[in-house]
Amino acid sequence: MQLPREIVVGSRILQLVGETCRRLGFTHSSLVLIGPYTHDIAGKTVIESLQNAGFRVTELIIEQSNVATVELLRKGIRKSKPSVVLGIGGGKVIDVAKLGSAEEGVPFVSVPTAASHDGIASPRASIKDGDKSLSVEAQAPVAIIADTNVIIRSPYRLTASGCGDIIAKYTSVRDWRLAHKLKGEYYGEYAASLALMCARLVIRNAELIRRNVEESLRTVLEALISCGVAMGIAGSSRPCSGSEHLFSHALDRLAPKSALHGEQCGVGAIMMAYLHGANWKLVRDSLRTIGAPTTAKELGIEPNYVIEALTIAHKIRPERYTILGENGLTRGAAERLALATNVI
Ligand code: ZN
Repeated sequence: MQLPREIVVGSRILQLVGETCRRLGFTHSSLVLIGPYTHDIAGKTVIESLQNAGFRVTELIIEQSNVATVELLRKGIRKSKPSVVLGIGGGKVIDVAKLGSAEEGVPFVSVPTAASHDGIASPRASIKDGDKSLSVEAQAPVAIIADTNVIIRSPYRLTASGCGDIIAKYTSVRDWRLAHKLKGEYYGEYAASLALMCARLVIRNAELIRRNVEESLRTVLEALISCGVAMGIAGSSRPCSGSEHLFSHALDRLAPKSALHGEQCGVGAIMMAYLHGANWKLVRDSLRTIGAPTTAKELGIEPNYVIEALTIAHKIRPERYTILGENGLTRGAAERLALATNVI
């Protein structure tokens, strides 16, 4: 199991980063990876905090998460030999920091500036190689420092997308249980319960989240972090990624312009909950209350791509057994499913 040692969630807490790093036993030098827009909103405060705690700081700015930027970070790490790498930003920066630091054997601290998906705390990284997106084993962050005062200023659409990624656990856990029953796959009750609890927590607090106040953001962040912990406990993304994630990955491949990860997973969860015979209307209504997309139109994706994605989703990761089975859905079945759930 790989788990974070310190999780700090609160308002105006970025100045605690240096102190937290010291407490974790890091000394002398640090490497800070930042996105093009996160320097002013968070990077500056974090760097000052590290310097005040006696750290030498090397700063690297990246715009994309791909094999080239991971290599750039690895070079930076070999050159400045930091005791710790910090990723400050949305998904892309965190992914690159997580993977590059893991490959160089340096601990990594996650400082998210948006609550858009569960990658802020998970041990896996999503990296682009050409036009393909790879999900690779990296390492769990040794600490997560999430400042609600910073994250509340990110576009609400990102937070709503994060909620979609959490509500998706409603179906991913059911897929895992199914794979256990039908394929004898290892199933961890604790990790599964934790992931499911996160989904329930967000469903229950949908009204509050919609108001986009710092207090509700805390719920979303804690749920996202707990999902990352559930993956750390399971030793894989199994509890948090099932058929609804396969559907989202399929859309990424097919649609000319895909929507956000969590938005697509949320819509996927509506349809997969229907297939599982679970309460799909609860999934849909919660997403709707939060303000996340529930239809192809709201995703900005043509119905045709939704249907096609449903028919190829089972091929994305054949070893991951889900409600889609080994043969997937026929075109007719896919169309009926999308129509029955009002996705198209
Ligand atoms: Zn996800």
